[in-house]
Amino acid sequence: MRRESKPVTIKNITIGGSAPIAVQSMLNVPASNIAGNVQQAKQLLAAGCQIVRAAIPTLQDVALIPAIKQAVDMPLVADIHFDYRIALAAIDAGVDKVRINPGNIGEDDKVKQVVTACRAHGVPIRIGVNGGSLEKHILAKYGAPCADALVESALYHVSLLEKFDFYDIVVSLKSSNIQTMIAAYRKMAAACPYPLHLGGTEAGGERMGIIKSSVGIGSLLADGIGDTIRVSLTADPVKEISAAIDLLRVLGLRKDGHTIVSCPTCGRTQIDLIGLANRVEQALKDCKKPITVAGMGCVVNGPGEAKEADVGVAGGNGCGVLFKKGQIVKRVPEEELLPQLLQLIEQI
Ligand code: SF4
Repeated sequence: MRRESKPVTIKNITIGGSAPIAVQSMLNVPASNIAGNVQQAKQLLAAGCQIVRAAIPTLQDVALIPAIKQAVDMPLVADIHFDYRIALAAIDAGVDKVRINPGNIGEDDKVKQVVTACRAHGVPIRIGVNGGSLEKHILAKYGAPCADALVESALYHVSLLEKFDFYDIVVSLKSSNIQTMIAAYRKMAAACPYPLHLGGTEAGGERMGIIKSSVGIGSLLADGIGDTIRVSLTADPVKEISAAIDLLRVLGLRKDGHTIVSCPTCGRTQIDLIGLANRVEQALKDCKKPITVAGMGCVVNGPGEAKEADVGVAGGNGCGVLFKKGQIVKRVPEEELLPQLLQLIEQI
């Protein structure tokens, strides 16, 4: 069962409550390159990104905000470290959410100014705690950036906002250690009502990053914890979106789009299934039909094993077969399998 969290709305996207898990990413073009950021934001939107974040390191970089907002109809988050004046300028420039840790802003009065501006503009704040940048006193208390340390830090930042009666809060607790990350989110889920932004940090390149996120984000979502996700990769952020969407599909949290299932192949395999599976994946890249397509290596076991699939192909003796819901509908030469499969999919 999904954890009950307080819904928070970022422009037109709600996170928390019973809202679908929103997919987000972050721009990685230098903040000074406005055209490059705008182009990347467009690519992310086209890939299915629902919330995009941009680092705003200086006051000059606030110019990114109107440029991106004009170009893409997607909630924009300003990622700000320390400087409350940049936060105020970003809110003024129309940003939809601010990621800033109030404990890093400084005196109460500065935090109050940011909270007042956020409240006036309906802008939520994400508190983003990171194992690599914990407060010194918390690190000294725990000796390491463990789950309890991350949670204590997050609750400290939350208390600084609640002090000014501000509750439009989203929280993330990132760690490059996935076991720590999972434990921290579990504790935080029990300790506060706010929606949780799930993600790892320094997750690594595409392969390890996807594995770490699948384990970390995936196990939390499977337990009903988490309201928005970012699959962090040291790669093109567009890849973060496809990985996040696939992760949600695997968990049954998104029903749109197709699913491909294929057997691992074995000594009974009668066609070039690996090549065919890759070609099917490529050909269906943009297919939005909510169907399951199977690729199986042999006709003896394939159609039966994949009978849950809507359509599929299997290797036969010197040919291939097409099947629907486990029933063979046609035998065709191997080279005809892909075009005929795509025709069958067209008809669904
Ligand atoms: Fe082997 Fe056939 Fe099963 Fe594929 S479907 S793993 S080829 S037995």
